[in-house]
Amino acid sequence: MFKPKTIMEPFRVKVVEPLPMRTRQERAVALQEAKLNLFSVHADQVTIDLMTDSGTSAMSQEQWAGIMRGDESYAGGRSFFRFADTVKQLTGMEHIIPVHQGRAAERILFTTVGGKGKTIPANTHFDTTRANAEASGAEALDLVIEEGKDPSAEHPFKGNINVLALTKVLEERAGSVPLVVMTITNNSGGGQPVSLENMKQVRAVCDRFQVPLFLDCARFAENSWFIKLREEGQQQRTPRAIAEEMFRLADGAWMSSKKDAFGNIGGFLALKDDALAIECRNLLILTEGFPTYGGLAGRDLEALAIGLEEVLAEDYLEYRIRSTEYVWRHMDQAGVPLLRPAGGHAVYLDARKFLPHVPSGLLPGQSISAALFLEGGVRACEIGTVMFGHTLPDGTQAPGPMDLVRLAIPRRVYTQSHMDYVIEAVTYVFERRAQLGGLKIIEEPSALRHFTCGFEPIGWDPYAP
Ligand SMILES: *Cc1c(COP(=O)(O)O)cnc(C)c1O
Repeated sequence: MFKPKTIMEPFRVKVVEPLPMRTRQERAVALQEAKLNLFSVHADQVTIDLMTDSGTSAMSQEQWAGIMRGDESYAGGRSFFRFADTVKQLTGMEHIIPVHQGRAAERILFTTVGGKGKTIPANTHFDTTRANAEASGAEALDLVIEEGKDPSAEHPFKGNINVLALTKVLEERAGSVPLVVMTITNNSGGGQPVSLENMKQVRAVCDRFQVPLFLDCARFAENSWFIKLREEGQQQRTPRAIAEEMFRLADGAWMSSKKDAFGNIGGFLALKDDALAIECRNLLILTEGFPTYGGLAGRDLEALAIGLEEVLAEDYLEYRIRSTEYVWRHMDQAGVPLLRPAGGHAVYLDARKFLPHVPSGLLPGQSISAALFLEGGVRACEIGTVMFGHTLPDGTQAPGPMDLVRLAIPRRVYTQSHMDYVIEAVTYVFERRAQLGGLKIIEEPSALRHFTCGFEPIGWDPYAP
């Protein structure tokens, strides 16, 4: 029987979008104007944009057809009910609250249950999750397993939470823990999955202390696929059956539907608890919109409902996870230091090993991101000291837990030859790594600094040919 090795995209192209093809000189000007912050670079200077997989998916013909069917009624629109029914079936939760993106759900939830003196444990909080928990006055605790903190450690489920550490936190502070968060997959920890077994253990601990469990489920389908591939006894199950089981272990969930729902915008908060749902809906009306649209157009809800079904297709998930692994494997073979193993939505460069001569305080991940853009027009995202560290009173940097550069792969957007180009660009920068130096922050906002801060090179000229 013919068993192809080629990882073929299970779709073909119907509409094309030209890629911006720029010169190194044009990019040098853009990078200088952006003060070396890739968030400030105009997208028309970027050839391959791997800054994020959020909101960057290609929608299917069914989703575009759904856009035309969208019902824009202010209250009780058809598209809302289609969306709510889809999410209810998937999650088994009664209350489905649409929001314009994941962080709006976080803001509503943590405004309701967070506050000063509260502790919110997670495997790893995503940046907006941490920021929203902290903005409410609560403490955000990351309790991922030890392997999850070591980029080179091999473990099939590096997103798992340390159950002993969680138990200890709940023993000491159960009364002030409003909920436990499991991020699936663990985005800030390298797109690493959480096992069903770990979720079941966490459920049991939560039951023991009567604390609700919430899933931050932006990549629930990718997590389900990893469980099918890697967890004992799960090989015969469908990703849908696994996803439904994960959600039924939880009391609530929120999703940035800009990820595994193939949406360009959108999200939801799903809840079992009636009283909490009333409180959250009241806040929703205040800032997002009426509960049957939550800041989205009816057409968005329609497209998301379709995307949430499409993402669980086995041929898609197999292609998705294998093609990310393809990029990872080729970079690994070229000797590029990577977070191991490959994540679901992204390949992460290990910046501390990539630039051993640049200490964390001099932001090695940001230097690599700048060089990748300058040389190849590839835009990546630093997930390290810029994102998770902070400036100390003496002006030096407290490092983040890891220094990573994330190459996030938009869904159904780039082909294998685009990825071959990215592999070449990363390898080129790696071979010239000795010429790269560090950076310092010259302007900094008070929260989520990575989005808007500016940088200056320290002792090197990033623009030198
Ligand atoms: C993207 C993301 C969020 C925030 O969602 P937005 O839609 O960007 O507001 C929260 N948690 C995780 C795990 C994410 O990946």
